[in-house]
Amino acid sequence: MKILVLNTGSSSVKYRLFDDTATLAKGLVERIGEPGGDAADHEAAMQRVMAEVDLAGLDAVGHRVVHGGTEFAEATVIDDVLVATVERLVPLAPLHNPAALTGIAVARKLLPAVPQVAVFDTAFHQTIPPEGSTYAIDTALTDRWQIRRYGFHGTSHAYVARKTAELLGLPAATAKVITLHLGNGASACAVDGGRSVATSMGMSPLSGLVMGTRCGDIDPTVIFHLHRVAGLPIEEIERSLTRSAGMQGLTGDNDMRTVEHRWQQGDHAATLAIDLYCRRIKEYVGMYLAVLGGADAITFTAGIGEKSPEVRAHSLAGLTALGITIDDPRNTRNAQIISPDGAAVAVCVVPTDEELEIAGQVATVLSR
Ligand code: ADP
Repeated sequence: MKILVLNTGSSSVKYRLFDDTATLAKGLVERIGEPGGDAADHEAAMQRVMAEVDLAGLDAVGHRVVHGGTEFAEATVIDDVLVATVERLVPLAPLHNPAALTGIAVARKLLPAVPQVAVFDTAFHQTIPPEGSTYAIDTALTDRWQIRRYGFHGTSHAYVARKTAELLGLPAATAKVITLHLGNGASACAVDGGRSVATSMGMSPLSGLVMGTRCGDIDPTVIFHLHRVAGLPIEEIERSLTRSAGMQGLTGDNDMRTVEHRWQQGDHAATLAIDLYCRRIKEYVGMYLAVLGGADAITFTAGIGEKSPEVRAHSLAGLTALGITIDDPRNTRNAQIISPDGAAVAVCVVPTDEELEIAGQVATVLSR
């Protein structure tokens, strides 16, 4: 099947063209609408994609959509009803869903005969049971305002958990895997038999692990205090917790390579930041071991998870009593399995591929 995967942002379109699992072409149209940018608007950007790649015989377009609310538990063929639903969900993802809607509108207009499918970051986590997705606040508020844990990075967690089971020869229907997606954004997920049962991001991608510029878990009182006592407007607090927190807030650098370099030089801020970053991962691993009743594997993925032996070793240090050990030479060379042979819990490094997973889900939906 020939499938075009589109990830439309507010000012960029990332695309990759697949023939089944083989990549035929990929590219990025950037700085849309900016002076000197690649395209004047999203329609011009899409026309540019169509000029750059050969779309003859295209079977489908797959669109990455960040927020599917509780409405979408799997990839879904796009029609007017889906578009209206995603529009309704804009308040839950005010930055991301409008861009995806623009991408969908433009692709439907320019490729009217090609089936289009939406693949949601949230969908994989719809299997989390209510006790894992509900916040313990007044249900009158949660019901009225769609407040709950949705979770994100779903295509990555789904893909990586499945690949882990394949790598270890575990039966997909029973494998218990803790996946750690550590990129600029970061989240943990407990996957039981291919289904998400817990994840660290919540109503938004702000909660859970420490990230490049996002705070992860904090007491909500921090927000009240910054507003009431420090006098910061709510928009400024949101900006700070989203853009100036995490590694950025702790060290002034959001790039893990820079922070690791400073850590190796003995820099105090970088040392605290890495200790905190890894401790939070360890806390989530402990929680998810408990939720799953033990795990077959723990898998690291995304930029930091795939490339930082230091973060992997530091996050799982001291867990030998739980059957979790890392083999240093394997870890240093970023091997696929970095635990010793025969370990009770396998520790793996599996590169994520969200576009490939989207293409696979599109093919599955259309072959039904
Ligand atoms: P995104 O979430 O934007 O897709 P990535 O998955 O590419 O991001 O991850 C980006 C992060 O990976 C950055 O913090 C970067 O510093 C980190 N990273 C990339 N290479 C390395 C490396 N060799 N060692 C440590 N961190 C790395």
